[in-house]
Amino acid sequence: MCGIGACLSLLGLNVAPKVLKMIKNLEYRGYDSAGLAMITPDGIIDVRKDKGKIADLEIKLRFSEMKGFIGIGHTRWATHGAVSKRNAHPHVDCSRCIAVVHNGIIENYIELRKELEAKGHIFTTETDTEVIPHLIEENLKHHDNFFNAFEESIKQLKGAYALAVITLKDPSKIFFARFFSPLVIGIGECEYYIASDIPAFLEWTRKVIILHDGDIGFVSKEGVIIKNIFDNTIVNRDVITVEWTKEMAEKGGFDHFMLKEIYEQPVGVKRTVMMTEKQMQGVLEILENANDIYLVAAGTSFYASLHGQYAFSVYGFKSRAIIASEFIEEVGSFIDEDDVIIGVSQSGETADTLKALRHGKDKGARILAVTNVVGSAITRLADKVIIMGAGPEIGVAATKTFTSQVAVLNYILLEWAKEHGYDVELLLDKLRNRVPEDMEATIRETDEAAKQLVEMIHKKGNAYYLGRGLGLPIALEGALKMKEIAYLHAEGYPAGESKHGPIALVEPGFPIIAVVLKDAVYDKMHIAIEEMKSRGGYIISVCEKSDDKTKKLSNFYFDVPTGYSNILAPLVYIIPLQLLAYRTAVKRGCDPDKPRNLAKSVTVE
Ligand code: GLU
Repeated sequence: MCGIGACLSLLGLNVAPKVLKMIKNLEYRGYDSAGLAMITPDGIIDVRKDKGKIADLEIKLRFSEMKGFIGIGHTRWATHGAVSKRNAHPHVDCSRCIAVVHNGIIENYIELRKELEAKGHIFTTETDTEVIPHLIEENLKHHDNFFNAFEESIKQLKGAYALAVITLKDPSKIFFARFFSPLVIGIGECEYYIASDIPAFLEWTRKVIILHDGDIGFVSKEGVIIKNIFDNTIVNRDVITVEWTKEMAEKGGFDHFMLKEIYEQPVGVKRTVMMTEKQMQGVLEILENANDIYLVAAGTSFYASLHGQYAFSVYGFKSRAIIASEFIEEVGSFIDEDDVIIGVSQSGETADTLKALRHGKDKGARILAVTNVVGSAITRLADKVIIMGAGPEIGVAATKTFTSQVAVLNYILLEWAKEHGYDVELLLDKLRNRVPEDMEATIRETDEAAKQLVEMIHKKGNAYYLGRGLGLPIALEGALKMKEIAYLHAEGYPAGESKHGPIALVEPGFPIIAVVLKDAVYDKMHIAIEEMKSRGGYIISVCEKSDDKTKKLSNFYFDVPTGYSNILAPLVYIIPLQLLAYRTAVKRGCDPDKPRNLAKSVTVE
C-alpha cells in the first residue's frame, strides 16, 4: 500500500512540484516515508527520499527544487524492510540508470535477489522492490530496447505490483505496469500523470484511463501505449471522464477530511440510493436463484456487511457475513456454482476481499460487487457491480462509505423483499427521500453532544460498545472508529454476551456505549445496561428521541430521529459514534485523517 505519483510534461516544464503534490494528495494510502526521482537536465537521475511525513521531508529534501520534466514519486507503507531512508522509494539499479516506485509485494523477490546477486548486482536495501531495477538492468544486457527489457522483467515478477519507472536509457518516457495493485493514468493538457488513485491529479484533469491487470506500457509524446502481457497485444483502454471535482477531493473548509466526510454522508447516501436504483438490473435475478449468500468484506465494510446479514434476516432471507481473510478457511470448501458472494469494498482493491472472491469465482459462484471506485479490480471480477456515490473518501477511517454501503445493501434488500410480497414501500420511500434529511439533522444535533462528552471520555483508557440484533453491527463499527483514530481501547460486543466475560472489567466510571433500538430486543438491551450500571458503568446511550426510558437509564445520551429502529438504523445511529471518535481523536492530539499503522486501501494480504 502506498501512493505512486508520476508526471511527464510534454512542454518540457519542471514537474517536481506536481509530483510532490500528487504524492501529498495520496498520503492517505500510506505514509511512513516518501521520495522523488527526476531525470535532470544534465542527464542524471536525482533521487531524494527519507522516512517521515511528506510535509517535513519537503522542507528537508527540497523536493520542489528538483529539476526535470519527467519524475516519479512515492509515499511508502512498508511491507518488506524497516521504515528507513534506505528502504524508502524510489529504488535504483547499480548504475543509477533506472528508478522505480512500487506499490504491492514481489513474492519471489528472495529467489530473484539471489540470482541477481550471483550475477554481481549490489543491493543496498531490504525491500522486495529493489529487485525490479536490478532485474531490468540485467535484462537490458540482451535487449537494445528498454521497453522489451522492462516487459521481460515484469514477466518474471510474481505477486502484486503497480509500478512507475524512469530511465536514462529512454529518458523521455515513464514506464508503468499493473498487476493486482491499482494504477491509473491521467490525461492532462500537454501532461501525463500516473498514479495509484484519481484524487492525485484531479486538480489538473478528470480524464482517466484505468489500467487492467497485466497492463504495461509507457507515456511519451507519442501518447499512451498499453500492452497486456496476458493477451500479448497492444490494447486500447477507454478514456473515462470522472465526475469528481477538485473540491470534492479536498477538505472544503473542514479541519480534517474525516469531519468533512461525516458531514457529506447525507449527500453520499442520497446519490448512492439514486445510483443503486439505476444499477439494479440483474441483481435480484442473481440473488433469486442463490442457494447460499455470503457477504464478504474487511474492516468497516465487514460491519456494513454484517448489517446486511441482520437486515436480510429480518425479511427471512438467509445470508452470512464473513471476514474476507477468514473466508477460505471458514467456508471455502462449501462454495459452489449455486452460491452468490457479495463482495463489499470501498476501494475495490482490498486484497483479502479480492482473494476470497477469486476463490468463490473459481468454484463457480456468482459475484456481486459493491464498491466506491469505478474500474477497480473488484468490478472486473464481478458478474454484477453496484458503484456507490459516496465520492472520494480521503480520511483513512471509513465513514461516508460505511453509510453508503448500508444504503446499497438496504436498497437491494427492500427491492427483493418487495418482489417477495413484503410491504416495504414506506421504508423504500424513507430511504429515498427522508433519510438524507434525518442524517443531516442528526449530524447537526449530535456533534454538539459529542463535543461535551469528549471532555469526560478522552481521559479514559477503555470503553465497551454494546448492541443487540440490528444494533450490534453499529456498536462494532462505533468501537472500531474509536480504536482506529483515537487509540482508545474500545471493544464492540453483543450486549447479551457481555455478562459472559467483558463485565469483569467494569468498575465505576467505565464508559459503556449502548446502541438501543426500540425493537424486539429493546428490553433485553435494558437488562444489559442495568447490569453494567450496577457495577458503576457510565452509560452513554444512542437512542431514539422519543425513548425516554433509555434516556432515564443513561448518564449521557445521543438522540437520533424517531422511526429508525429498523433496517435503516445504521444510517443515523452511527453518526454520533463517528463524531465521538473524531472529537476524541482531536482532543487526544491524534490526527484522525492519518491514524498510525493504518492505510486506506489495504492492497496487501
Ligand atoms: N513492498 C514495498 C515496500 O515494502 C512497497 C510497499 C508499498 O506498497 O508501499 O517497500
